[in-house]
Amino acid sequence: MAFEGLSERLQSALAKLKGKGKVSEADVKAAMREVRLALLEADVNYKVVKDFVSKVRERAVGQEVLKSLTPGQQVIKVVNEELTQLMGGAQSKLELTSKPSVIMMVGLQGAGKTTTTGKLGRYLKKQNRRPLLVAGDVYRPAAIRQLEVLGEQVELPVFSMGDQESPVTIAEKGVAEAKDQDYDTVLIDTAGRLHIDETMMEELKAIKEKVEPDETLLVVDAMTGQDAVNVAESFNRELGLTGVILTKLDGDTRGGAALSVRSVTDCPVKFSGMGEKVDALEPFHPERMASRILG
Ligand code: GDP
Repeated sequence: MAFEGLSERLQSALAKLKGKGKVSEADVKAAMREVRLALLEADVNYKVVKDFVSKVRERAVGQEVLKSLTPGQQVIKVVNEELTQLMGGAQSKLELTSKPSVIMMVGLQGAGKTTTTGKLGRYLKKQNRRPLLVAGDVYRPAAIRQLEVLGEQVELPVFSMGDQESPVTIAEKGVAEAKDQDYDTVLIDTAGRLHIDETMMEELKAIKEKVEPDETLLVVDAMTGQDAVNVAESFNRELGLTGVILTKLDGDTRGGAALSVRSVTDCPVKFSGMGEKVDALEPFHPERMASRILG
């Protein structure tokens, strides 16, 4: 399960407060020291940890918490609320207003971009939209075929022009095709690289300028922790993102990316990938996530 390691550590840090009839300021401080360590070990950004712990401590040593009938539970409630805030508070939905609405999928190679394009197409189809998938990852061998296979699996059409045309042209023609054929949503799979480089960014900027997407979604591998957060920061700075999709949360025992990416980049996490299958994509709910972590 996602965040297993973090979850265990946090639960054990807070367990000591749980059954107590009386909780002192020192008890809270001791628990917060453990919470701090648990978060750092989970690869949460150190500054995020610092702010988080000081916020929780400040609220938790307040008299209305310590003097309440169930002080331990109240402290845990504060932790839960602040964790929810850390991950963005309310759920952040896609904002698809143009006709057709365009979603540009960006990310580094191996993050799960192509798979997620198929998954998201399937998700939107279930919401009664008519998506068209556009195969714009012309550099990774087999990415185009991979999207075509995914398209067959989720029963969605895939627009492709092979790997000899420029990604900008493919994106543009894909959107024109959607207009012609009355598709209301276009998901463009773009090319990733192993590392962020200028050529990739310039190309993505050119696509973005041409197709003016409603959503520019970065797909990042949650298991890479702070690296994922750094990648998100760069993409957001260079390209401007409207959201992040965290993949491979099913294998992420630590949770560092999920807990830091929102506060570091100010970009909402909109979905999470929970497995390799096409149905393993979930809208990201900060509150549910926090409750899951705290058990
Ligand atoms: P791309 O290079 O970014 O387009 O990456 P791919 O879409 O080809 O995905 C790379 C690998 O990650 C594939 O083996 C996918 O099956 C796998 N993958 C993608 N999303 C998830 C996820 O949410 N969970 C797991 N466990 N694997 C995933």
